[in-house]
Amino acid sequence: MKAIRSIRGMHDILPDSVHLWQHLEDQLRDLLTRYGYHEIRMPLVEATELFARSIGDVTDIVEKEMYTFEDRNGDSLSLRPEATASCVRAGIQHGLLHNQVQRLWYMGPMFRHERPQKGRYRQFHQVGVEVFGLPGPDIDAEVLAMTARLWRMLGLSNVRLELNTLGTPECRAQYREHLIAHFEAHREQLDEEARNRLYDNPMRILDSKDPGTREVVATAPSLMDHLDAESRAHFDALCGHLDALGIAWEHNPRLVRGLDYYTHTVFEWITDELGAQGTVCAGGRYDGLVEQLGGRGTPAIGMAMGLERLVALLEAREDAPAAGVPDAYLVVPDTEQTGEALRLAEELREARPDLQLVQHCGGGSMKSQMKRADRLGARVALVLGPDEAAAGTVTVKPLRGEGGEQQTVARADLSAHMDTALQS
Ligand code: ATP
Ligand code: MG
Repeated sequence: MKAIRSIRGMHDILPDSVHLWQHLEDQLRDLLTRYGYHEIRMPLVEATELFARSIGDVTDIVEKEMYTFEDRNGDSLSLRPEATASCVRAGIQHGLLHNQVQRLWYMGPMFRHERPQKGRYRQFHQVGVEVFGLPGPDIDAEVLAMTARLWRMLGLSNVRLELNTLGTPECRAQYREHLIAHFEAHREQLDEEARNRLYDNPMRILDSKDPGTREVVATAPSLMDHLDAESRAHFDALCGHLDALGIAWEHNPRLVRGLDYYTHTVFEWITDELGAQGTVCAGGRYDGLVEQLGGRGTPAIGMAMGLERLVALLEAREDAPAAGVPDAYLVVPDTEQTGEALRLAEELREARPDLQLVQHCGGGSMKSQMKRADRLGARVALVLGPDEAAAGTVTVKPLRGEGGEQQTVARADLSAHMDTALQS
């Protein structure tokens, strides 16, 4: 019979690489807690309308990337392609947003029907941050400082910050008219996708990858020239904070992001080490979204990072965190001692909660059990054979490095002896 395989673009994370994920997740939890952020967990499935209304109808995600299906009762549901919309929905629903400051974070899988390639999957994982109730730019700077700290904690030095402002909806609307006029004047040079977007979402043309379109973009008017005083002040203040913090940044006036809800600050953290899929973290301010989803007007800023891309960066490091190995492997050469060995293992786990102890199960010769201990990378083998059982002892055999001498110790002293045994 033909074996069933996983869905294209959706990957198993296997035990031999999961330690990198755990390392990353631990560092993130630690970081976010230090900055006073609280975790929130939302369902993986939401009403399709939630994403259409927030991300925007004329975006890649909603037009062609969502996993949308009909529930048995006929409702249209979607697997979440991102979690900002879900987080805002939850915040409104549970009254977390009005007149409050919330610093929230989430972690989990997202789903987009994209063409799978390196760094781009159909199920991928994000850690995201959403802050509500603060109009910035101080909080914008905090979010970026926190991210910069994460790169330092992870030992990633080649991640650079690109920053832009999209201004208020009012100056954007004005700018939009200038942009459309410019693109209309060069219509014949635009690729088909750009022409289709011309009236629906002209700002998205700014980050087109088509060479012809890029030439037209190069001479397009800049939003910077159409910013109102408030938008300008917000952007300048943020840049000032970043400079004061010593965080390097680069202004990219063509950075617009693929979602409709952004206002003012938008940013991406980019590395050159991952080829075309180099954006490891992206976000921005979305002051209009809470109201747009039915809540009361609440300023907000958020960001999300792609964990697959960060794991790939960690993997490539020479000093990548190593997988954990057991401290001790309990060898039981004779099945007569199986019951006794189970008790010994429990005794030791009770006395030493810090110890990683694997008990051999399934019988077999002393030699094959020692081999298994070695393959697992255990630092010592503990042997409980007939002689040890009769004498009330355990034999401790170092397996790594210098190792030192094999010793037989009284069972009552084993827990204390483990320190010496593991030191070598
Ligand atoms: P991209 O330009 O790479 O398509 P995006 O603008 O669609 O990114 P966002 O929606 O802002 O991405 O998501 C934030 C981050 O999540 C990205 O910077 C990236 O690290 C990660 N990400 C997005 N889509 C995928 C995917 N299909 N597979 C893996 N990671 C992804
Ligand atoms: Mg995308």
